[in-house]
Amino acid sequence: MHMKVGFIGLGNMGQPMAANILGAGHTLTIYDTRRQTGRDLEAAGAAWAENAKAVAVRSEVVFTSLPGTGAVEQVATGANGVFSGLAGGSTYVDTSTIAPSAMRRIFAAGTDQGLHVLEAPVSGGIHGAQDAALTLFVGGNAEDLERVRPVLESIGSKIVHVGPAGSGNAIKLINNLMMFVNFIGACEGVAMSARAGIDLRLFLDAIKSSMGQSRIFERTLSLFLDSGRMGANTDLAVKDLRLGIELGSELGVPLEVGPLVRDLVVRFRDAGDRGQDEFTDMIPDLLRRSGVDM
Ligand code: NAD
Repeated sequence: MHMKVGFIGLGNMGQPMAANILGAGHTLTIYDTRRQTGRDLEAAGAAWAENAKAVAVRSEVVFTSLPGTGAVEQVATGANGVFSGLAGGSTYVDTSTIAPSAMRRIFAAGTDQGLHVLEAPVSGGIHGAQDAALTLFVGGNAEDLERVRPVLESIGSKIVHVGPAGSGNAIKLINNLMMFVNFIGACEGVAMSARAGIDLRLFLDAIKSSMGQSRIFERTLSLFLDSGRMGANTDLAVKDLRLGIELGSELGVPLEVGPLVRDLVVRFRDAGDRGQDEFTDMIPDLLRRSGVDM
């Protein structure tokens, strides 16, 4: 079933997700505060709209992929936002990673207005987005998910209904906290291997089938060795870590490692204004600081 879809936020993740929705045959209307982000999609058949409301007026379902909580609240519920343009019975799906409490507010505001609201934060990075192989952690009503499942299937290969609004972002933040903890361990392991004179490709291969393995280790070391890019900047990493730690304290879980990992990532970001650089550059940074000649 083809739908009239809107997509707002055409950055590293939004751009390939929108392209896959268009590629699946849906009609697509797009918007981003940076005009140039729409050019390739327009060439492929999407229509540009002048703001979020104008996207919503033309759509049965609107997606957002935005930097964080503030932007999502503004674009969903603010002046000239999605909710001011969507007709009753239409659906709003936010794929960004935001505070679960904010998602619950947005859900309440939307349902009060007769809209269907879902959160679907994604995991899999830009490569997952390009390959339509994302995992979607969906929070909201299960029947609303069914209504837009064909569109979700054009961007993700695993769609998990987690529970009510907020639970999708909760699992996403927990996933990311675990990922960053594993990532710092991977950085230290890579630096130690290099210092021990172990070839890093051999190290990657050996650890892949050992208990020190993690997906983030495998992905980031492979990309580093092949000069590939991850497409996730350090500002977003800090945002996710902060939200994850806030969630831990809301839930009354005494986190020990998470705050330490957050401090390391913040220190890396602040040490050279690296907010827009990739957090995976912490691997070469630690190699340099370990005296590894590269
Ligand atoms: P990005 O910064 O590349 O893209 C965000 C886009 O939103 C930009 O194009 C920006 O111009 C646009 N934007 C900002 N404010 C806007 C507004 N008010 N109205 C319209 N457009 C606006 O970020 P990204 O890497 O694509 O990530 C998007 C979301 O997905 C974030 O919440 C991030 O945490 C999450 N996420 C990212 C990754 C990743 O690997 N990059 C993976 C999973 C989830």
